[in-house]
Amino acid sequence: MIITLKKNAPKHDVDKLIDKFEGMNLHVTMIQGDNYNVFGLVGDTSVVDEKSVMANPIVYNVQRVAQPYKLANRMFHPEDTIVDVNGIQIGGKKIAMIAGPCSVEGEDQICRIAKEVKAAGADMLRGGAYKPRTSPYAFQGMGTAGIMAMVKAREETGLPIVSELMSAEHLDEFVENVDIIQIGARNMQNFDLLKAVGKTKKPILLKRGMSATIQEWIMAAEYIMSEGNPNVIFCERGIRTFETYTRNTLDLSVVPIIKERTHLPIIIDPSHAAGDYKLIESLSLAAIAAGADGLIIEVHDDPEDAWSDGAQSLKPKRYAELVEKGKAIAKVIGREL
Ligand code: PEP
Ligand code: MN
Repeated sequence: MIITLKKNAPKHDVDKLIDKFEGMNLHVTMIQGDNYNVFGLVGDTSVVDEKSVMANPIVYNVQRVAQPYKLANRMFHPEDTIVDVNGIQIGGKKIAMIAGPCSVEGEDQICRIAKEVKAAGADMLRGGAYKPRTSPYAFQGMGTAGIMAMVKAREETGLPIVSELMSAEHLDEFVENVDIIQIGARNMQNFDLLKAVGKTKKPILLKRGMSATIQEWIMAAEYIMSEGNPNVIFCERGIRTFETYTRNTLDLSVVPIIKERTHLPIIIDPSHAAGDYKLIESLSLAAIAAGADGLIIEVHDDPEDAWSDGAQSLKPKRYAELVEKGKAIAKVIGREL
C-alpha cells in the first residue's frame, strides 16, 4: 500500500501514523520528496481500511498495490483451477456445453429437451425451478417439483444438472439434488447466500451482476471461497449499458481479464446477454475464440410457448448447428468441444 502525505504534514502527526501502522505489524518505509512524503506499507495490508486512512487530514492519497482478493488471485495460485462436476471438467481443454430451457415446465418437457440437447452435444442440462422474475405476476418456477423433474432428466440422460438457488432456505434441497448451484445475476452480492453456498463443496456457477464491476464479481467469488468452497465458476451474462437494442451488453473482455487475475474457470451465457435467439450463435463462437471455458445456452423445443425467455431460446436443431461450428473454432485455438 502506498500512502502519500500532504505537504507540510506536522512531524508529530506523521509519527503517530507510523506508530499506528507499526502497531498493525506492518513495515513502514518513508520516501521523502521535495513536495510530498510517501509511505510504503509492506505486510498484510488487508487489515488496513483505506477509507479510514483517507480520513486522516495529513493524508493526500492512498493506493493499494495488492488486490483485496487472495483465494481467487492467480498470483498465489498460478495453475488453472479445474472444477469437476460428476467427472465432467470445467476449465480444462474441453469447453463445457450447458444447455436447456430457462424454466423447467414439467417432467416431460425437461426430459425431452434433455435428450435433445444431449444428442446435439451438450455435456450438462440447465433448467430453472426457482425463477427470479421482474414481475411478481410472472411464472415463478415450479420449485421442488421442478428440481425433481431435473433429477429425473439426469437419470434418463446422465447429464449433470444446473439450477439457480435464490434463497438459503432451499440450500439442502440443492445440495442433495443439483450438481452445480447457480447464483443468479440478481444475487451476486447477496452476501449471506454467498456465505451459505461457500459452506458446501458443490460447484457454484457465479453469474456476474448486471451492474457489477469485475472487482466486485471477483470479491463475490472470494466470499464463497473464504467459507471453504474452492469450486467457483464465473459466468458472464451481459451487463447493463446505454444500449437497448440487446437485452444486455455481452462483455467478452472479462474472459482474458478473469483468466489473468484469477485461476478460476469462466463460462459465457449469450442467451441472457443478447435476449435474442438470432444473436446466440455469433456470440457463442466469439466466446469460444476469446478463450471461455464453457457456454450456458437456453434451448427450448417450443420457444413460442416457453414459460420464460422464449425469445432468446434456440431450438435444438439450431443448437446442434452451433455446436458443430463451435467445434471448428475450438480446434483452431487448441481446445475441444
Ligand atoms: C437464468 O439463468 O435463468 C437467469 C435468470 O439468469 P441471470 O441471473 O443471468 O439473469
Ligand atoms: Mn432465462
